[in-house]
Amino acid sequence: MLERADDVGGVWRDNIYPGCRCDVPSLLYSFSFAQKPDWTTHYAGAAEIWQYLRDCVQNFGLEGHLLTGHDVTDASWDDASGTWNVTSTGGDFRARMLIIAVGALNEPTIPAIAGLSDFDGELFHSGQWPSDFDPAGKRIAVIGTGASAIQIVPEIAPAAAALAVYQRTPPWIMPRGDKPMGSRARALFEAIPATRQAARDWQFLTKEVTTTQFVKSGRLLEFVGKISSKHLAAQIPDPALREQLTAHYTPGCKRLLLSDDWYPALARDNVTVVSEPIERITAAGIVDSADPGKTREFDAIVLATGFQVTANSFFARVRARGSSIAQDWLATRPSAYLGSTVHGYPNLIVMTGPNTGLGSSSMVLMIEAQAAYAASMAAYLHTHPRTSLDVRPEVVDAYLRDLDARLANSVWETGGCSSWYRDAKGRITTMWPGTTTRFRKLTRQINLDDYALLTAE
Ligand code: NAP
Repeated sequence: MLERADDVGGVWRDNIYPGCRCDVPSLLYSFSFAQKPDWTTHYAGAAEIWQYLRDCVQNFGLEGHLLTGHDVTDASWDDASGTWNVTSTGGDFRARMLIIAVGALNEPTIPAIAGLSDFDGELFHSGQWPSDFDPAGKRIAVIGTGASAIQIVPEIAPAAAALAVYQRTPPWIMPRGDKPMGSRARALFEAIPATRQAARDWQFLTKEVTTTQFVKSGRLLEFVGKISSKHLAAQIPDPALREQLTAHYTPGCKRLLLSDDWYPALARDNVTVVSEPIERITAAGIVDSADPGKTREFDAIVLATGFQVTANSFFARVRARGSSIAQDWLATRPSAYLGSTVHGYPNLIVMTGPNTGLGSSSMVLMIEAQAAYAASMAAYLHTHPRTSLDVRPEVVDAYLRDLDARLANSVWETGGCSSWYRDAKGRITTMWPGTTTRFRKLTRQINLDDYALLTAE
């Protein structure tokens, strides 16, 4: 296992902004085979999840397989030998099978705002939070109102002298209702694991139902809209601000957000919501289109502007037969059979690949399903040392036609929003249009009929 950083943890290691936590309940956002009875809250914070992941590495004896500080710079398939040649900053490797598990939310989107580099104060992306940043007494701008911004703003607003939130699209916000996991519940989960399993199963089931509604643009989404609108009305008494914060697309079209402290933070005296588009950034601050002659001055600007999800640069490093996955995806679309295998790139699994994203449930469920698929590929390759598996192009085409037909009815397509779920050409290439149960069934094991069997020389 090659890891470019000096520790495991991915987003839960890298995102150290104040308030960073998971919006999927922890019992579900953890491995089915490594359940933790003593989460401190129902929705764990980043540090606790990171520690859980490190504990898993230790408890499953993975340390001996882990090479940190190894940034993979190239991975090339060699037809003649039926192997992947992997070059990294820590050394070179040859392998019959390659699993790419680089994640999707790690390359910041830096917005193309004129003058951004002219700003004289502190300027950073939410995913690259400086550990020594102190908001106390500062005039701060936060650009963006997505999942990261709604966690950051309530944490830093009380200390800031003034805080302006630059909102392009108001999100739908549902109540979060998080609370500490009581000592009685923890003791029960510890003593009788079946109770923990039952709680997890319930979370699983409710998320599967929600997922079905996203996929079918179901009637339940109206109900979600009503709960969110009530939440907004209860927390924002000022009708003008309420109007400013009202979402105008179908709930779920963009990621549905959970928060109990976002609206109260926006209602604070020292917080302003700016909905006018940003014109430019100057050395002193931000100019918006409401008054192009006026600069709002800031000491710090936080870019909570999301990540390069559909164009992760890593895929330019994965090459076969004179091309790279990035080139192929640019020419066609980001695609992989069952989100996992790519035609022309044999013996390769892309974890959380195209169209494996979920609107509300736990990605751990998808990851475990893909791990089973990868394990069945590995088992086949192990027993067939001269054979390689390349997914057939006609299988991929049929799969994509079915995928597109399902996506056509989804709220991500019909909901009237623009979102990072779409690629540069506007196609939804990130979301899985089905339940996690269906995905697990499809990825239980490799079906050899789907693959061309290549023989090494
Ligand atoms: P995001 O959801 O992509 O939100 C980015 C925000 O920045 C949006 O409000 C977007 O506005 C705004 N924006 C982007 N470019 C802009 C520009 N040029 N001018 C003004 N506004 C601009 O990013 P994120 O909040 O970092 O979240 C990314 C994903 O990470 C989430 O969807 C989620 O999957 C994950 N995440 C999860 C958690 C969790 O609790 N599990 C927490 C944080 C993040 P528009 O809406 O108009 O595009």
